[in-house]
Amino acid sequence: MRIRLLISLLLVSLPAFLSGQSQAHKKTEKAPHKMTRQTSPEAVHNSAIVIDTHADTTQRFVDEGYDMSDPLNGGNLNLETAKKGNLGAEFFSIWVEPNLYKGHYARRTLILIDAVKQQAAKHPKDMMLATSPEDIEKAHREHKLAALMGIEGGHSIEDSLALLRDYYDLGVRYMTLTWSNSNGWADSSGDIDDPAVPHTQEGLSEFGKDVVYEMNRLGMMVDVSHVSDKTFYRTLVISRAPAIASHSGARALCDAPRNMTDDMLRAIARSGGQDSKGGVVQVNFYSAFVSQAYRNAQKAQKPEVDKAIADLKAKARAEGRQLTYEDISRMERDFADKIPRPPLSDLIDQIDHIAKVAGVDHVGLGSDFDGVDGQTPQGMDSPADLPKITAALMERGYSAEDCRKILGGNLLRVFREVQTVSKQLQSEDRPKITDKQE
Ligand SMILES: [Zn+2]
Repeated sequence: MRIRLLISLLLVSLPAFLSGQSQAHKKTEKAPHKMTRQTSPEAVHNSAIVIDTHADTTQRFVDEGYDMSDPLNGGNLNLETAKKGNLGAEFFSIWVEPNLYKGHYARRTLILIDAVKQQAAKHPKDMMLATSPEDIEKAHREHKLAALMGIEGGHSIEDSLALLRDYYDLGVRYMTLTWSNSNGWADSSGDIDDPAVPHTQEGLSEFGKDVVYEMNRLGMMVDVSHVSDKTFYRTLVISRAPAIASHSGARALCDAPRNMTDDMLRAIARSGGQDSKGGVVQVNFYSAFVSQAYRNAQKAQKPEVDKAIADLKAKARAEGRQLTYEDISRMERDFADKIPRPPLSDLIDQIDHIAKVAGVDHVGLGSDFDGVDGQTPQGMDSPADLPKITAALMERGYSAEDCRKILGGNLLRVFREVQTVSKQLQSEDRPKITDKQE
């Protein structure tokens, strides 16, 4: 298996260096048979460094004692399926539920970070903790899954740049400025219409600008998934490095506030200043962000779901126990299972749309595996299904090189540029935006 992988890698990586039509054409004339083999979707997929920027498996490690060598057991990600689908790098989400862990955000953050590290330490033959583009490439060469970490929700830093720096030191390489909750310095699309929640004036408070600057200085990717539109645009103005959306889709195809308008897609592509090659939007696989039909069905079902949850809560109260996040999640999943899953082509439409609007250099994959209760398009249940994306893209005319960009090359480019900007900023005097530097 590994040898075969290596051979296809050698076969396919060569033409990647050759640019221009004449060279490609010459190659076809010389070895038409080989060319066919080289460009098979399987060979292209296996030659790529495949990077997924969002999986919530981390909570399973902590809350369920789940191990990456376990069978999926209702989840989406494990070592076996990662290997099958040639997944090269996973950004494990460090997500702290804001109500459940109020007053203990940093503690929960540290526990989740530790859990990812424990998994990497436990499986040294198959996994490797990674904190840089070079680490991702090393893991790829060694046929290991590179394990990276991204914090989902700025509330984890508890309004402290010191904690932000600590998380960076522990290996965290992106932070989603907000989850579904606004945090006082950045606003979320999840509660922006709620008048009971305090919001910033301009999308980022003065301290919020400090956070973005400090992330740029450290070399932590700035992630704008989940933020409100205003926070999105303000962040792009402030950030000196290109931004990522670690798990978002296109609003033109599915009207979710978490998805991005065409203008936002183009803005991400232009993010990072004049000399930047621009940021990347990593497409979320969640059915309700992928497909409008699924979203409509989910909306129609909502009153029924709300009632069922209210009944469940009342029942739990009568029995003198508290309802857990898992209880509600299970109930929501039961309802979701009644809605037909969208076809895989809807997910490909998302990638295709972003590639057409923002450019093929600005789209990638951010599955949200283990974070969406199995609500993914048909046939997309684990990383073992990722080769289907490559096959579908090639069927639509995407070249091998374009596929490799989408599968992970674009994210690697942004990650590298974020590091370059970090080095530049570390050589400059740090501007004082607010007095709150700790
Ligand atoms: Zn999320």
